[in-house]
Amino acid sequence: MTDCLVENARLVTNAGLRPGSIAIENGAIAEIGPALSVSSADAETVVQADGMVALPGAVDVHTHMHDPELFPDDIDFATQTESAAAGGVTTVVELPTQSPVTTPADLGAKRDVCEDLAHVDFGLVAGNFEDFEESEVDVDGFIDAGVPDFKTFTADPYRADDGTILDLMSAVGDAGGTVRVHCETQAILDRARDDLEGTDPELYPRSRPLEAELEAIGRVGWFAERTGCPLHVVHVTSGSGAAIGDRFKSRARVPVTLETCPQYLAFSREDVSSLGPFLKVNPSLKSPTEVDRLWQAVRDGTIDLVATDHFPTHRADRERGWDDIWEPYAGLPGVETMLEFLVSEGIHEGRISWPRLLELVCARPAREAGLYPRKGSLAVGTDADIVLVRDRTYEVSADELAYNGDWTPYEGRTWSARVDTVIAGGELVARDHDVVAESGDGSFLPRGPGAAAE
Ligand SMILES: [Zn+2]
Repeated sequence: MTDCLVENARLVTNAGLRPGSIAIENGAIAEIGPALSVSSADAETVVQADGMVALPGAVDVHTHMHDPELFPDDIDFATQTESAAAGGVTTVVELPTQSPVTTPADLGAKRDVCEDLAHVDFGLVAGNFEDFEESEVDVDGFIDAGVPDFKTFTADPYRADDGTILDLMSAVGDAGGTVRVHCETQAILDRARDDLEGTDPELYPRSRPLEAELEAIGRVGWFAERTGCPLHVVHVTSGSGAAIGDRFKSRARVPVTLETCPQYLAFSREDVSSLGPFLKVNPSLKSPTEVDRLWQAVRDGTIDLVATDHFPTHRADRERGWDDIWEPYAGLPGVETMLEFLVSEGIHEGRISWPRLLELVCARPAREAGLYPRKGSLAVGTDADIVLVRDRTYEVSADELAYNGDWTPYEGRTWSARVDTVIAGGELVARDHDVVAESGDGSFLPRGPGAAAE
């Protein structure tokens, strides 16, 4: 007996959209294609896709969802993975924020808490490494525990100096891991900030100029070359930044992965005059020209993947920034709106194709996370994580999101695609942003060279 049959979908393939259905057994895809051997009479549950587009559940490799030291009580791995499920993101990779995960004991504690709360499957990242002594950090211990990614910063508040980043990359490269770097040069940020007076939101992007990103990407690119450590540049904000990162990709001595986020494609610094603190994000927004160039880099493959850098806060916290933009934390919620944004403003506006979207938010991030093809693909034997997307025109409203922070930077935009149905591990987890998955439904996913040990 088939557990679930998704009928009459348009499947996203590398060649484009193809009509087809999907049969699910024991949480995995048992059959997929235009003509299945099973019919609806053989299935316990039938989901009529009615021509909706079916793609693998999205894999968001950059989220900040759980940090009791930093976030209010109702913002935790439960509520935020609920928001992920609502938006068709069925796998998240959670990064440290304020609370360090710099020992395997920190990691074990975070893993246990998150496993109790997770609505979707998840991986973890080690960090934030502000200091690094090879004799004191158990790099192999993280890798054995299924956590091959190590996060560090060239900018405050978690900044590491150049020697520290080189030492970290040498050790992680030798151990078979990847270093992820937030690239903005602090000295450039400091000089820019010193020149600004006042508290107006429009000052914020001016405090974090483009050159800070460009210099830092180049520098850590050379560090990757020098140390032989794979490099993942998080949240590239500009087409120029992507071009600099691409120089190191084309040298091909070590893998270099370039990530961007929806906010850097959706907004430029010119939007800050109307949206103010609702666009306070690090790195900050760049010029409309850089946004156009970044879309080009997303289209042509210079940018490898899109992730959200989801950072949840409440509306009231954010409103404080109208009076003093330096007050609220920087960061935007985005895990629930990523897919709808990329389909509405990417595919439907002719900027990217369905196969490119499949690569950007499913296949490539799953490979980067060491989870492909189990995640990020629709094929027999893979996890039955499936998103159905419906054409529908509507005005974006935080009221209609599962996200509990009561705001979205996209409020009032007109979108043309809606995440209709989300299936994870063969179970229905969300319908039109109503989540039926529960805490504990998601599992920790060991990744990288240590994953086989699980
Ligand atoms: Zn981040």
